[in-house]
Amino acid sequence: MRTIDLRSDTVTLPTPSMRRAIAEAPLGDDVYGEDPTINRLEALAAERVGKEAALLVVSGTMGNLCALLAHCARGDEVLVGDLSHIYNYEAGGASVLGGVAFHVVPTLPNGELPLDELAAAVRHADDSHEALTRLICLENTHNRCGGVALAPEYLCAVQAFARERGLRVHLDGARLFNAAVAQGTDACSITAHVDSVQFCLSKGLAAPVGSIVAGDAAFIARARRIRKLVGGSMRQAGIIAAAGIVALEEMVDRLAEDHANARMLAEGLASFPQIAIDLDSVQTDIVIFSLQPGAGTATALVQALAARGVLVGEMGRGAIRAVTHYGIDASDIEEALEAARGALAELGVAHGNN
Ligand SMILES: *Cc1c(COP(=O)(O)O)cnc(C)c1O
Repeated sequence: MRTIDLRSDTVTLPTPSMRRAIAEAPLGDDVYGEDPTINRLEALAAERVGKEAALLVVSGTMGNLCALLAHCARGDEVLVGDLSHIYNYEAGGASVLGGVAFHVVPTLPNGELPLDELAAAVRHADDSHEALTRLICLENTHNRCGGVALAPEYLCAVQAFARERGLRVHLDGARLFNAAVAQGTDACSITAHVDSVQFCLSKGLAAPVGSIVAGDAAFIARARRIRKLVGGSMRQAGIIAAAGIVALEEMVDRLAEDHANARMLAEGLASFPQIAIDLDSVQTDIVIFSLQPGAGTATALVQALAARGVLVGEMGRGAIRAVTHYGIDASDIEEALEAARGALAELGVAHGNN
């Protein structure tokens, strides 16, 4: 039985053109700044997000860590959303390694951190009781909110808010290009509103490894020092960068296919009476749904789908996540929906309400 793996867009395998680029990449020692392929990727990435400089890192987690520690000193405070990846899924790295405190604010279903909540969270710098607020972190697209893209007006408003208060803004843009493609804009017009950004090459863009941090040259110099500190300096990592260049040059526009497939999956799921789903939140490649009360548990549905060759992930509190990506086409979505029909029927029998 073939597996349709919708657990994450991180399961993507490199494209044939990436494998060729990897095999042929000119290489050097990047710790001496001498890997031509890394230098090319960093220049291209900086240009794509309209920043002075960029840095290749091992993962999105390392990218966010380097960014937070490049912005903040020990004891500084960072405003993060309660549903953010940085706060929930990165092992508290900035606190553990950088002595940075997280100040958590609520997240709206559209991925926004309300401005009044941010305003209430900013500390009074002249009061020696309080930590110093330094940075606001936003996430775009927002993973836990179902892959929603932040509204351009909201990004403008946060930028103005931060400037007024002397704060910096970092964007966890693991899926930045999904946001840009969904909104029919380029990444630059999103990142123009933030001081720094992290984006993943290894998710929907299908590179095997790597993320980029970008910002001004002085910020990237500090981030490069942090990358060294956490052991993330690599040598002939042009073999990774080569795939990253292909990711940026060939894999951005096709994200629209993933979004169309996610839409198809979401609408198919919405047609099952047992499924609860907010179709407005399905804007990119992520589909989050749950079971209606009494229709069974998320764990049972995930298992019944897996038994039919369809892999999805549990997100906690009854939520299930499916992600479309390179390697998944419309016929896979049709098959996944057929599997869901069978799985839901099985759950219904188990619950005696079918
Ligand atoms: C995946 C992800 C990350 C971390 O990337 P890794 O490469 O898995 O470390 C950070 N933020 C968001 C929103 C993500 O989805």
